[in-house]
Amino acid sequence: MSSFLDSNAAFHSATALDYLPPDPLRRMQLRRLQGMIQRAYDRVPLFRGRLAERGLEPADVESLEDLAQLPFTTKADLRDTYPFGLFASPLEEIVRFHASSGTTGKPIVVAYTREDVQDWTQVMHRCFLACGLHSGDIIQNAYGYGLFTGGLGAHYGAEALGASVIPISGGNTERQIMILKDFGVTAICCTPSYFIHLIERAGELGIDLKQLPLRAGVFGAEPWTEAMRGRIEAESPIKAYDIYGLSEIIGPGVAMECLHQAGPHIFEDMFYPEVIDVETGEVLPDGAEGELVLTTLCKRAMPMIRYRTRDITALNSEPCACGRTLRRIQRIARRSDDMLIIRGVNLFPSQIEAALLAVEGTLPHYQIVVDRVKGLDELEVQVEVTAEVFSDTVGALEKLQQELAQAVERVIGIRAHIRLVQPHALQRSEGKARRVLDKRKL
Ligand SMILES: [Zn+2]
Repeated sequence: MSSFLDSNAAFHSATALDYLPPDPLRRMQLRRLQGMIQRAYDRVPLFRGRLAERGLEPADVESLEDLAQLPFTTKADLRDTYPFGLFASPLEEIVRFHASSGTTGKPIVVAYTREDVQDWTQVMHRCFLACGLHSGDIIQNAYGYGLFTGGLGAHYGAEALGASVIPISGGNTERQIMILKDFGVTAICCTPSYFIHLIERAGELGIDLKQLPLRAGVFGAEPWTEAMRGRIEAESPIKAYDIYGLSEIIGPGVAMECLHQAGPHIFEDMFYPEVIDVETGEVLPDGAEGELVLTTLCKRAMPMIRYRTRDITALNSEPCACGRTLRRIQRIARRSDDMLIIRGVNLFPSQIEAALLAVEGTLPHYQIVVDRVKGLDELEVQVEVTAEVFSDTVGALEKLQQELAQAVERVIGIRAHIRLVQPHALQRSEGKARRVLDKRKL
């Protein structure tokens, strides 16, 4: 009994800020914001210069709304100041670096002081509590350890929770499955596409995941859809929770879904969210869809003011059944960077994913191939179908192909060539899935 009371008390103290009433929360945000802007102004030449260009000083930020006068920070700013140009702490106070795997050129470098690592640990701890995990859970952490923030971010939070952490990192799927089964794992952290791959491989090895004690998946690091959540929950014993974060802000742990799975709650005491019009940069009201912009409120080594995430979402200030007062973000299923323009039509891979997965007989593996043939954009969608469908008559395959072409056209408004491929024909990813091959850019 006492251990139950102890753990209950621990839950309440770790999550107290999740339930702060709006007024004290806004006051805390403003106080932290003002301190952070002053720090960035005093220590980071780029921020000071940008404010000076606008004739602004830190004291001009007198309310949270005043933040909208400040300039944005973009990924290009991180590249241009590579590697240490945006640091607000001297190197002797930096205890950790992480970096993005830049596809071209130099990576994006981020840094943490000891306090930053503690803050990160605390928000990740709150993420695990939000989805009902606690000490006694066995957490298999299949996010990559290394320069990528996913592995160590989840690791520290899971240890703070008091869970038993398996730091398996990404890859080696058969070993992952063996440990899932032998250790009685109750929760897993990885990308949703990698978990789909685990489900499939377990099936081939004759292991029924539904017989295991596994009950929660903490999935992030790539955009995914409700249709994908439906497939994961139908084919495994877990509840799939959406976690959101990015290295430039802290790593995973910016926002996390609660047990109600109704969109991630943003840890607003640490990160101040705005949603802006992608074209004009104007701040939009809660409920309107646009690009998420985040300002760190506590980060010491590398404060970020109005960082443009490229993620498209809307802020949701409706009360959540869990009682948390933190606003939620609508599921991020697309990034403005992912937008494809095909024959003048704007579309996102997630729209195609949702259309494909709504049709029976498809597997959650697909690839979008864009090419230009005789000056005209061609869109091909390769999608794996179940072994039953694939071994069926030619007529059945043609019927499915028609059905998928219509489903995709209804959503994106243009005709795509659908190519049905057998199970395993498409390459699997051990981290973030690569959904689009745009040959026009090669
Ligand atoms: Zn909630």
